[in-house]
Amino acid sequence: MNIILLGPPGAGKGTQAGLLTKSRGMVQLSTGDMLREAQASGSEMGKIVAEVMAKGQLVTDEIVIGLIREKLAQGGSGFIFDGFPRTLAQADALGALLAEMGQGLHAAIELQVNDEVLVDRIVGRAEEARAAGKPVRADDNAESLKTRLMAYYKQTSPLVGYYHAKGLLKGVDGLAPIDDVAAQIDALLG
Ligand code: ADP
Repeated sequence: MNIILLGPPGAGKGTQAGLLTKSRGMVQLSTGDMLREAQASGSEMGKIVAEVMAKGQLVTDEIVIGLIREKLAQGGSGFIFDGFPRTLAQADALGALLAEMGQGLHAAIELQVNDEVLVDRIVGRAEEARAAGKPVRADDNAESLKTRLMAYYKQTSPLVGYYHAKGLLKGVDGLAPIDDVAAQIDALLG
């Protein structure tokens, strides 16, 4: 079974993906993590994406589709796509890549939240990291967050309709406590 977690920045996609890897042995594919790894490694691609990410804009489809293609080429199944797809072109590419592997998507799970909570969560995440002496993400600041939210509404939210039309969309209440959200997802996946 392969699933997508959909939702704006701060909705809890990474948290829920992490829980699913533990509870179901699924494999988390987070393009945000892959891009941050590329940056940390100092690769050419990492350098190219750094500025775009810090501003809160989307990296090109070509780059992120390439990253996902590489991961899927290693084979396997039971993928949780976290932060991908983020555009309609990425969604089409994912469908094609899975079809090539003889696989499909089981569900696109939308974590439903509201903007106020997102700002609080992201500002909170940055403060926690700072207090713990850990590095703060370059895009966890008020200015980039505005851009990230706008990118979500303009470029990613059309995927809600896209997956609804395919009969794959399921919604969960992302404002509930973490364990409740996990239980909702568990019930949906059966
Ligand atoms: P969040 O969902 O909290 O904003 P992510 O870790 O998923 O964080 O992504 C961080 C940044 O990485 C995004 O703002 C964007 O610049 C880039 N990024 C991640 N995934 C994609 C994607 N699928 N397409 C384009 N850009 C992406």
